[in-house]
Amino acid sequence: QTTPTPDVFETHESQVRSYSRQWPAVFDTAQGSWITDEDGKRYLDFFAGAGALNYGHNNPVLKQALVDYILRDGITHGLDMSTVAKRDFLTTFTEKILEPRGLDYKVQFPGPTGTNTVEAALKLARKVTGRSSVINFTNAFHGMTLGALSVTGNSMKRAGAGIPLVHATPMPFDNYFGGATDDFQWMERVLDDSGSGINRPAAVIVETIQGEGGVNVARAEWLQALAELLKRRDILLIVDDVQMGVGRTGQFFSFEEAGIVPDIVTLSKSIGGYGMPMALTLIRPDLDVWGPGEHNGTFRGNNPAFVTSAAAIDHYWSDDAFEKEILAKGERIRTAFTELADRFDGVSTRGRGMVHGLVFADGDLAGKVTSLAYDKGLLAETSGPSDEVVKLLPPLTISEADLDHGLSILREATETVCS
Ligand code: PMP
Repeated sequence: QTTPTPDVFETHESQVRSYSRQWPAVFDTAQGSWITDEDGKRYLDFFAGAGALNYGHNNPVLKQALVDYILRDGITHGLDMSTVAKRDFLTTFTEKILEPRGLDYKVQFPGPTGTNTVEAALKLARKVTGRSSVINFTNAFHGMTLGALSVTGNSMKRAGAGIPLVHATPMPFDNYFGGATDDFQWMERVLDDSGSGINRPAAVIVETIQGEGGVNVARAEWLQALAELLKRRDILLIVDDVQMGVGRTGQFFSFEEAGIVPDIVTLSKSIGGYGMPMALTLIRPDLDVWGPGEHNGTFRGNNPAFVTSAAAIDHYWSDDAFEKEILAKGERIRTAFTELADRFDGVSTRGRGMVHGLVFADGDLAGKVTSLAYDKGLLAETSGPSDEVVKLLPPLTISEADLDHGLSILREATETVCS
């Protein structure tokens, strides 16, 4: 079978350019870690909606909760009304996620997407502090609207958007200089030096692991030093957990491992559980200075997503069994990728929990690997500044047999491309 050339494939001629040219199939149904195209061909899904399907496609537990809710005519759209589904979600989220972790946050529903929660976080930080600029990091990705794009560190994605709407100063992410430079000495110096030209920022926004940026993992001690530095200067710490939250790294929140407590946390993608749009902005209680109606929107409380989210939390996060399962499967990925990195020059790996990157010398090689993998029935995407990283985000619920099957496809593809 020959793969159509990527540029000619779209779902329909009316569609603007999109991801679909990467995977020239029209997909139809999906179950667990498998997705099926309209011709009946099955693919193992190691992309999982870019991290929006941590519990897999059509997870039976969540499907049942959703079907029950729809059959009893539960409210699907209620704008900003109080609803039973919303109250149940908030109770479950508080009791099963926040309280056991000793976290105290007010919960805002900022709109349906990751970008929406980033916008809310930036706006709130500016309102609380009365300062307007923000520090972001090299290779960061925070979304596509003008505010979120202003703190995204990818020139290609920013090109064409015009002058950034939020004044953002990029600082080097952990290991940007290959560990050779003390990043924080530099940051402290420029923050404290009135001659540096850097405005005192309202906040710093950071991903603990940069997903779109190429699976760049910040060390726990780097995050701890960052949190400490900001606390001393009364600058807010926003952790963007849109992609790495909801269990991807092993714990529910990706920052738990470092033991830091951000002032604001953004969550989206898998928080709804069933792949339906939902986002949360978690706000340190004393920073909740929103006035009524100051930040709202028509789709900011997705009731069916509240139902599936609460069902997922009840089912997967009532004890620590799921965390252990994620870490054990993550270890399988790490072992398989380390073996490839040891065998092939110019290939390396990085990651934590169930997010791992296989890093190639350039985007061409990584693209060949994902394209070969696609032909063998595996979906995986590339990330990084030149798409040189094959990024793995399998559903956290994947069976060990399916995980091993997908890893063997990637092994074969890497052997073909690198031998
Ligand atoms: N923040 C991070 C860390 C992300 O990975 C993404 C999406 N890839 C976003 C924000 C934006 O989320 P969305 O695509 O839902 O707007």
